[in-house]
Parts: sequence; C-alpha cells; structure tokens
Amino acid sequence: MDMPVNPVWQQHLFLGSWQSGKGEQVDVMEPATGDVISQLKAATPADVDRAATIANEAQKQWIAVPFDQKAEILRKAATLLKERADEINGWNTRECGSIGPKADWELQATYEQAQMAAALPMQPSGEIFPSNMPGKRNYWKRVPIGTVGVIAPWNFPILLAMRSVFPALAMGNCVILKPDPKSSICGGVLMAQVLEDAGLPKGVFHVLPGGPEVGQALVEHSLVKMISFTGSTAVGKKIGETCGRMLKKAALELGGNNAQVVLEDANLDIASSCGAWGSFLHQGQICMQTGRHLVHCSVADEYIERLATRAGNLAYGNPAQEQVHLGPLINEVQAKRVEDIVNRSVEMGARIVVGGKRNGNYYEATVIADVTPDMPVFSEEVFGPIAPVMTFDSDESACALVNESPYGLAAAIHSGSTERALKIANRIQVGMVHINDQTVNNEFQVPFGGMGSSGNSGRFGGPANIEEFTTSQWVSVMEEGIQYPF
Ligand code: NAD
Repeated sequence: MDMPVNPVWQQHLFLGSWQSGKGEQVDVMEPATGDVISQLKAATPADVDRAATIANEAQKQWIAVPFDQKAEILRKAATLLKERADEINGWNTRECGSIGPKADWELQATYEQAQMAAALPMQPSGEIFPSNMPGKRNYWKRVPIGTVGVIAPWNFPILLAMRSVFPALAMGNCVILKPDPKSSICGGVLMAQVLEDAGLPKGVFHVLPGGPEVGQALVEHSLVKMISFTGSTAVGKKIGETCGRMLKKAALELGGNNAQVVLEDANLDIASSCGAWGSFLHQGQICMQTGRHLVHCSVADEYIERLATRAGNLAYGNPAQEQVHLGPLINEVQAKRVEDIVNRSVEMGARIVVGGKRNGNYYEATVIADVTPDMPVFSEEVFGPIAPVMTFDSDESACALVNESPYGLAAAIHSGSTERALKIANRIQVGMVHINDQTVNNEFQVPFGGMGSSGNSGRFGGPANIEEFTTSQWVSVMEEGIQYPF
C-alpha cells in the first residue's frame, strides 16, 4: 500500500492555514502491528478558544453564501472523497485496523452523506402561518445554530464525524470537529484537506485532534452552540449534563447492546448468516453490533451449530497485508477488556462453542452458549467479536429479554411471519428494528438514532438533519403599524 510512513502532520488547526499548535506531539499507532506510523500535534483547550472565536466570525459570511454555492462545495467534497479513496481507505486500514470492504463501505456511506447534505441548502426553510390580526404575516423559518462542535469516536471515524459535519455546514453552521486521538488522520486531517480543496471558505471548518480535555473545552465553550456527540454512554451523559446546564443543544448517539431475536419459524440459514455479520463485522466494534442472540429454545441447538460453523470459518490477521475477515481490535486495552469479559462469563457458567482466544490485539470470532442475563457478556456492551446466545420460550419472554437492556439502539427479528415479527417490533424499546435482516443497518436517507441509554432521541440522516442542525425563528410582519391600548 502506497502511504507515507512517519510523516509529521502539522497541526492543521484552521482550514486553509495549517498552523503549528502548542499541544504535544502524539504517536499514531497501527493496531495490527503496534508500530508508530505517523505523528501529529494535539490541540489544546486554548486552540478550542481560538477556533471558536474564528468560527463565530466566519459564520457571518458563511450564512450569506448562496445556497447553490454551498451545494457546489459539498458536491465537490463528495467527488474528492471518491478520488482519494486509496489514500483514505489506506489510512482507515492502518490507523483503525479496518478490513478493505469495511473501509470501502465507510467511504461510500460518507460520500452519500456529502451528496445528501448538498441537497439540503435548497430545501424550503420555513412555513407561513395565518394570523387573526388583519394585515399580519407570520413567517416561521429555520435558521443556523451558529458553531456546532462535533465529537467523534474511532470505530467508523470518517462516517460518524462527517454525518454531522456535512449537514451542519449545509444548514449554514460553522463546525469544529474533534476526532478521537486513535483515528485523527483518516477521521480528521484527511477530511479537512477534502473540504479545503472543495473550496470551503477559511475559518468555517476546524479540526482539533485531542483527548477528553479538548472535547470538554469544546463542550464548555460559550461560542459553541450545539454539540453533536457520538461515543460511549458514560461520556455522553457527562456531555449532556454540561449542555443542559449551559442550555446548549446536544445530539447524543451512544452505546448499544443490540439483540437479534430468532423465532422458531425463522429461516436458520439466513438468521445465522445475519447473526455472524452482525456480531463479527469490524471485530464487533460497532454500536449496532449484535451483542445478544436471543433464540427460541426449540431451534437453539441448530442455530448455535450454524453460527459456530460460520464463526469458525472467519480468519483474522493484518488487513494491510492479507485478505482477512477480522482485523485487530483498536488496541491492547480493548482486546484485554474483551478477554476479561469472556473469562468472567465462563467462570459464571457460560460455554465457549468456538473461538475464545486472544492473540495480542487480535481476538477470535467467538460463539458463547449457556448464557444468562447476569453474565457480563450479556449485560455489557462488549465491543468485540463475541456472539452470546440465550434462549427463550415465548414471544413475551423474548420481548422482556430485549427490553432488559438499558440500551435501545437497534434490534433484528427473524420469523417466517412478518406480522408476528412486527408485533414484537412494536413492543420493544429500540430506535431501529430490522425484520429478517441484521442489526448493523445504516442508510443515509433514513433517520438514524437510539432510545434509552443509546441516545437522547436526536436523529441523523434524511429529513431529520434539517431539524437537527438548525433552530427556528418566528418573524411577523404587519402591513401597517397598529395602535395598542397603551
Ligand atoms: P468515548 O466516549 O470514549 O469517546 C468518544 C469521543 O469522545 C472521543 O473523541 C473522545 O476523545 C471524546 N471524549 C472522551 N471523553 C470526553 C469528555 N469528557 N468530554 C468530551 N469528549 C470526550 O467512546 P469510544 O470508546 O471512542 O467509542 C465507542 C463507543 O461509542 C461505544 O460505546 C459505541 O457504542 C459508541 N458508538 C455509538 C454510535 C452511535 O451512532 N450510536 C456509533 C459509534 C460508536
């Protein structure tokens, strides 16, 4: 793969003026090998203040850019994403341990987000309401929020940053993006270059790589009027608290522990294929990962056997060097955490059917049976390639098991009867339900989001973006002035 190794990325604080920040130089690690493949300068809380001040000024000009010019910049960004596919996918593979097809899919999904955002500025931006006062017109219109802070995780770092960045820009906001330090090049630096080369005016978009202290400074900055956060529930709650105190809009897309329900009339070949994809794609490091397989007791043995056969056929390795199904987990801490959760569950009586071994940052695709709800492999978001299977004996108990989790992101239901599956869908508290499919579903034109501990019901995608990244204003006009009693 043709990619520069060990270049020192300059701090690229402001779009169009790549500056040296005052933060420390941080190593960019390759999870597959443990090698340092690059370095970059982290931002500091002082950089957040500078970026917010500049963005606040730049927004006054950006809001006035005609809608067709905004659309043109976003379309150009979409084109550049495709033109730079080798470079972007190369970094996604080496920086984040993504296998080729995952990197391809993520880039395509990001391209679609850019195309969709390009269509937003030309949408109607308000409504006219009647008035009971003669000669009065009531306009209700959508207006930009101002500066939006976007905080993104490392697992799908490009898509999960840009699904907020593109629509926020399209609706007339400036954006400050804080990528995760583990994915700041593909999920930050390369995106700044794309938008700069697409012609976005200087000061409208900023990338500030850094850790929690930079994220916290962004959340607490008074000139940042909205936070769009994707990450863990624990951090999301903290951010929500701060935003609540500051009366700041917060869109929180958080963790998940998603169930796939397999009824006794399901096609087990399809269900086990969906289960394997849902649990093992990207080593299970996906918020929508199938973390709980709930299977009717009468078909559980056959389902487990089919799922275990599929898991046993999956090879892991360095995706930059060979074609593999699973790459490494993001780092050793995460790999050891997965190992610990599995070991503790086995001590409590769970049975490993296939897999169950860690090798450095790699973990085998693993199927676990005899699982009970009190085991950590069932109750926690594992974020690893683990498929725990539990049984149930009625639709009622399947619904109760799904709803047992505080999370409510995605679910899948397999049944020969769509009506029966729909009845279950109506009784479970999750934001996205897929019948005869798997839990890891994302389509740019459909609003995406979770319930409960998975988020605060903000929605990304499709028409939801207009509401998410704007606020509103009522403007009334009297044709002639009016006298009041005072
Ligand atoms: P994380 O919450 O640890 O970090 C996410 C981002 O928040 C990073 O950029 C991090 O630097 C930043 N951050 C950490 N502490 C902060 C603080 N106090 N203030 C401000 N910013 C802070 O999450 P992670 O481990 O990187 O990502 C995995 C989690 O994200 C999982 O729980 C996963 O389910 C969730 N996730 C959710 C979605 C979704 O759409 N619902 C998508 C992907 C991942």
